[in-house]
Amino acid sequence: MKLFAATLAVCSMAAGAESQQRNPRVAPPDMQAVTPPLAAYTDDVLFGDVWKRTELAPRDRSLVTVAALIAGGHTQQMPGHFNRALDNGVKPSEIAAVITHLAFYCGWPRAVSAVGVAKDVFALRGIATDGLASPASEPLPVDPAGDAPRAAAVEAQMGGTAPALARYTNSVLFGDLWRRPDLAPRDRSLVTIAALIAAGQVDQLSFHIDRGMNNGLTRTEVSEVITHLAFYAGWPRAVSAIPVARKVFEARAGAPAQSSDTNSGSTILEILRQGSQPTAKGSPDYFIGSVAIDQRFQRDEPARVGGGIVTFEPGARTAWHTHPLGQTLIVTSGTGWVQREGGPVEEIRTGDVVWIPPGVRHWHGATATTPMSHVAIAESLDGKSVDWMEQVPEQQYRRAPR
Ligand code: MN
Repeated sequence: MKLFAATLAVCSMAAGAESQQRNPRVAPPDMQAVTPPLAAYTDDVLFGDVWKRTELAPRDRSLVTVAALIAGGHTQQMPGHFNRALDNGVKPSEIAAVITHLAFYCGWPRAVSAVGVAKDVFALRGIATDGLASPASEPLPVDPAGDAPRAAAVEAQMGGTAPALARYTNSVLFGDLWRRPDLAPRDRSLVTIAALIAAGQVDQLSFHIDRGMNNGLTRTEVSEVITHLAFYAGWPRAVSAIPVARKVFEARAGAPAQSSDTNSGSTILEILRQGSQPTAKGSPDYFIGSVAIDQRFQRDEPARVGGGIVTFEPGARTAWHTHPLGQTLIVTSGTGWVQREGGPVEEIRTGDVVWIPPGVRHWHGATATTPMSHVAIAESLDGKSVDWMEQVPEQQYRRAPR
């Protein structure tokens, strides 16, 4: 709440001094006319702050929002968010796959309503629906360690009362739908969790949060999904999800969370497999050019380290920014540029390790002609590891070493 108050205060003061920093208007004119405070919350808190929080990638926020709209049957808001999802890197085939997936979790009528909206959105963007059929490829492999206990639990829970439903659950839902390659398992978990929370279905939520974390969702991301959904499904539904998530976090950590800060962390070794997370696109709010972010991670307290692998195509770079506790960049391929404010543009090459001290304004990226990948690692202070500022214009970027 402190944050919202601060954000609003900043926004209402921003009109004078920093007018070019003002958040772009998302609230429609009707809303601005009828309920100016709601329009201000929409522009300044929801889109100006929540959507920009880096704890969850814009693509993930779009998947979560789309799932919440489908779960709620909110067809009127779907075109805007289907378009936003496509802009945020969700593929048309993935939107189609989300609708199919959610037919099972929200019911066929909800899915059918969404199909009509998607068809219109695709048509307006010139997306051919005949290209949506996923290429015939192998279903994803079954994880025997997780699958057999789940199948047995389903059989035990429903087999005696509704044997056909137990069969559909095991053979169609988990045996087929979840293994379709048109949506990554992590994304299936993301939209399932979002749909369950949005529909107020907490009974299955514990299973799906745990499954989602097995599929690569981090604790930070699950927490942020709940936060995001407060705005799209209402505070009560988000708040009801919190004790469920807490129990899963505690169970996965192997013991109830301690109030003391010693040895309270998980003892489970975590391997985030390459390719298990979809590549995120660098947001045009914070990057210029083509930027791909892979293997994003954020460690839970008491650790505070997070990062990812960032790949810049030639000409691509970050906006100006600072890190409250500094940042380490390890160049893993190519040649790039980095500059601190007031300093020269410096060339960095494969194997170089760069330290950006806390609070120092800087940018980094590829050179104008070569791509560059780096591992970026930063610690967060009060949940924040970066403060974004204005973009790096062409003449500044080109002031390159010769
Ligand atoms: Mn940086």
